[in-house]
Amino acid sequence: MRCSRPVRLGIGVAVAVAMSACGHSGSDTAVDHAREGRLTIGIKFDQPGLSMKDTDGTFRGFDVEVAKYVAGKLGVQADGITFKEAPSARREALIADGAVDFVVATYSITPDRKEKVDFAGPYFVAGQALLVKTENVAISSIGTLTADKRLCSVEGSTSAANVKEVYAKEAQLLELSTYSQCVEALRAGTVDAVTTDDIILAGFAGLAPGELAVVGETFTVENYGIGLKKGDRETRGKINDAIEDMIADGSWKRAFEETIGPLAASTLTPPVVDRY
Ligand code: GLU
Repeated sequence: MRCSRPVRLGIGVAVAVAMSACGHSGSDTAVDHAREGRLTIGIKFDQPGLSMKDTDGTFRGFDVEVAKYVAGKLGVQADGITFKEAPSARREALIADGAVDFVVATYSITPDRKEKVDFAGPYFVAGQALLVKTENVAISSIGTLTADKRLCSVEGSTSAANVKEVYAKEAQLLELSTYSQCVEALRAGTVDAVTTDDIILAGFAGLAPGELAVVGETFTVENYGIGLKKGDRETRGKINDAIEDMIADGSWKRAFEETIGPLAASTLTPPVVDRY
């Protein structure tokens, strides 16, 4: 809570803000911050079509559009949003520490994560797949990841856990901090394949047509949620409302088609929000 922060709003609003920000005990919620006109949202900075920080500092992609739409429904315009990088392994900590108000970052809803954070959504359903160099015909599906194959995924992701624990226990797994680092390792020949969600891989493949390709069937179901502070039912309810509105008013479909859609293999079926 920043009660001493200068308030740059009209008097009536300033009084309301001061009362809502300082008049109760406990830490502020995302909804409280939104009432002050500002939100800090955790996203990825390096996932083409989903969430990319451009050289001019602007952000583009489907997750960015979802984040902006939700913020708008909470009353915060684009200039009130601060985007903070939320690498896979740091998402729960960023939320728990209050460093971000919520996370929109290809973030799968899982029972383990739900012990630490809550999720609105899902707002998208992806599935885990493989990215290889097109010339590599030895890897065509998860079943071809034998002990001699070198795989890259990201620490703290469901993708790394899934291959380590279930789908490719034999393969040699390199865990890096981001998927763009894994794609560099693939290009350099340090690994034979990158594994994560099909939609993420499609974005990287789209930047390198003829060089990189997504192969095989998806072998998991990844329900993307918006992660937020555990126990904050008000924020979760409002974000769920926003996701439903985004789907109902056509913005969800438009955002998808204008970003990752043309590259995605996934069919365009909006998910049903789970208000647990
Ligand atoms: N959706 C998966 C996860 O939440 C993989 C993508 C990612 O790491 O962002 O772990």
